[in-house]
Amino acid sequence: MRILITGGCGFIGSNLVEKLHNETDDEIFIIDNLSTGKMENIQEYIDSSRVKFIKDDIRDSSIINKIRKQKFDVIYNFACPASPKYYLKNSIETWECSVLGVRNLLESIKGTKTKLFHSSTSEVYGDATIHPQSEDYWGNVNPYGVRACYDEGKRAAEALIFNYIDSYQLDVRIGRIFNTYGPKMNEQDGRIISNFVNQALNNNDITVYGTGEQRRSFCFITDTLDAILLMMNGKKITSPINVGTTYELSVLEVAEIVKRVLNSNSPIVFCESMQDDPQKRRPNIEKAEKILNWKPKVTFEEGLSKTIEYYKSRMM
Ligand code: UDP
Repeated sequence: MRILITGGCGFIGSNLVEKLHNETDDEIFIIDNLSTGKMENIQEYIDSSRVKFIKDDIRDSSIINKIRKQKFDVIYNFACPASPKYYLKNSIETWECSVLGVRNLLESIKGTKTKLFHSSTSEVYGDATIHPQSEDYWGNVNPYGVRACYDEGKRAAEALIFNYIDSYQLDVRIGRIFNTYGPKMNEQDGRIISNFVNQALNNNDITVYGTGEQRRSFCFITDTLDAILLMMNGKKITSPINVGTTYELSVLEVAEIVKRVLNSNSPIVFCESMQDDPQKRRPNIEKAEKILNWKPKVTFEEGLSKTIEYYKSRMM
């Protein structure tokens, strides 16, 4: 198959490049503007005759014809800053990726048989007032706040996809990806697992934002990718599906686990809380279990130790 991965140099995108390269005969095209993605994430595959990297930007409408000409079978869209650290600084770029970028991808597949996977996010639920969150929950999002570029951008993307499916009968599948982690996440990404592990490995303070009572559930990247591939390789699904684990921890518990696993003396320090930080997030994954026959397999301890190995290998 001819595959396009947008945002293919980022964390999820580059892990998908690796998986498809190693497990299929697919021809893999990667588009990334390298704003947050890194070439080193795909370096190992760049010389392969089946992998082609193109530095480009899905926000630019000239991308529509470039993509159409390539007649891809499947497009996976991961092109968007996804870490609060980046999207808070690059809010307009984030909004443009989510809305204009997705509009361009939808235009590029109009009237074709190309299937599109769109990476949506648990952020569409905002600071959820119900727990856990299932797909039929509409969310609790501040539309005029620091996270709105991402939350509302991704919500607008879902609305746009709905309208394009309705108007042009496109095959677009939406995964709402909850917190995921693993190798190839940039050390500087700013997210909890990459921060805490690297802080502990370097004997730096472990920075807990706010009280540390905020709760998240963490899905290892291989499980996330399995769900995405099942979504794309199975029968047509027209509504969003949550992808994540039901194993939930507080931020403080994560800090303590990382400290214990690494036998680290790094002090846990409490810092200013993030604005509009969702307090409690865990997916209801019954829909994925039923439709995709999928369940996350990797425990937090296993995933964490693989992630630690990756960061350790980069310190040598
Ligand atoms: N967090 C933290 N310290 C850090 C990074 C993150 O306490 O160094 C907290 C953050 O405030 C949030 C949770 O960890 O409550 C998850 O944050 P992350 O940025 O990983 O992802 P989010 O779920 O916010 O998209």
